[in-house]
Amino acid sequence: MNARIYARNNVARMSGYVPGEQPDSPDVIKLNTNENPYPPCPGVQELLTHFDTATLRRYPNPVCQEIRDEVARQNGLKSDWVLCGNGSDDLLTIAVRSFVDPGSALAYPSPTYSLYAVLAQIQDTNVVEIELDDNLQLPTDTLAQAHAATLLFVARPNAPTGTTYSLEAMAKLCEGFNGIVWFDEAYADFADDDCLSLVRNYSNAVVSRTLSKSASLAGIRLGYCIANPTVTEQMMKVKDSYNVNAITQALALAAIRDQSYMRKTCAKICKTREETRDALCKLGFEVLPSQTNFLFAKPPVPAQAYFQALKAYNILIRYFDATRTQDYVRISIGTDAEMTRLLEATQTILTKG
Ligand SMILES: *Cc1c(COP(=O)(O)O)cnc(C)c1O
Repeated sequence: MNARIYARNNVARMSGYVPGEQPDSPDVIKLNTNENPYPPCPGVQELLTHFDTATLRRYPNPVCQEIRDEVARQNGLKSDWVLCGNGSDDLLTIAVRSFVDPGSALAYPSPTYSLYAVLAQIQDTNVVEIELDDNLQLPTDTLAQAHAATLLFVARPNAPTGTTYSLEAMAKLCEGFNGIVWFDEAYADFADDDCLSLVRNYSNAVVSRTLSKSASLAGIRLGYCIANPTVTEQMMKVKDSYNVNAITQALALAAIRDQSYMRKTCAKICKTREETRDALCKLGFEVLPSQTNFLFAKPPVPAQAYFQALKAYNILIRYFDATRTQDYVRISIGTDAEMTRLLEATQTILTKG
């Protein structure tokens, strides 16, 4: 039977976001979705072990008040500068719904996080894709290109390239753009700097963060954004009333309080990242400098074939089949042992041809 499609036209036409594979097998070395190879901080296990399930009878705090207070306190801000989401993807969705009219446009550099385009399709709004130059920097006419848009997403550091942009260039965006400049800082904990100072200085600047990468908590879904209260106030009206569940709120608070554990694991990952980068370069890869927990690398053999060949060794990385990315693979940083297995398999693949 040929059932009719009842969806809105824009929904019927779109293909939807494609997440990285999540295989069930524990034998797979999983370097494809930028998860953290280390466990979450000890306080998370402690809390879950003693969690009082009787409290789940009630709805959770609608605005994650304790998390807002803690994030605000750590950054010397008031709590109304912080808004929490069910992962930072939830906040990106809320942003598009809050700040982009159907007749307006969402702008973002390209190549970047592929969810941005999908969110525009769902909202049935136009997109302005600003092609990064050969050095993966924003072109000089970025503001002119983006002038019709009311929201500009900038992943900084960028994914899947792992590269970043200068803070001076970011300040110019905030100054010249007639809308919200949203810095998606999913990887900021692995980077040299962040855009929080811009949020303090420009009322149209937003940063979003996530516990998925640096805090090893992709499974609980917690992200937050920091912005002027005139911005968070609007988004507050658009978000689902209870967008973050009670278990996530409790565990996330424990993780956010333990900054020293997070910094220690991030430093370890950055060290492994640099060692892996050197080793791949020695094997003939061209590896972009990374400010994240992954490497974007051009193998000395066709990238898609290399990606496929690694699967035979139970090693999963990511390949993006688009013009700007097709010669590269993205490799998440795992433990030292996992990266050794990757390098050994790579050496065998390159030798066998
Ligand atoms: C992983 C990632 C996110 C999503 O983070 P969640 O908090 O897990 O939803 C957002 N933006 C970028 C650029 C990412 O790589």
